[in-house]
Amino acid sequence: MPTKERLRALTVRGRSVALADQIMGAVDANDGPSVAIYTKGQCPNCGGHMFNPGPQGGLAENVRCVGCGLKWHIAAPFAPHTLDNTDEAYDLTREFDMREYHRGEGEA
Ligand SMILES: [Zn+2]
Repeated sequence: MPTKERLRALTVRGRSVALADQIMGAVDANDGPSVAIYTKGQCPNCGGHMFNPGPQGGLAENVRCVGCGLKWHIAAPFAPHTLDNTDEAYDLTREFDMREYHRGEGEA
């Protein structure tokens, strides 16, 4: 996904473009899970793109992979890590595409 789209989307989520630029610039390009989730929008474990939303607060959010069921704690630019909380913490009736996640509302 082009960086410009990611910055626009982060701005939609309440952050300035300058801050978003700093955040995305700080993502560790050598960290596999970081690249998978933040850059490719996919599960580091199975490569799937669909996730269920979970608890969130501040810059952090928990998401559950629809494909393999692994739960991830994400808070860019910090490296994602897996969680072992239960499915009850997630809204299994809702799914979103991680590739669209950082794209601004109303953008194609
Ligand atoms: Zn997965």
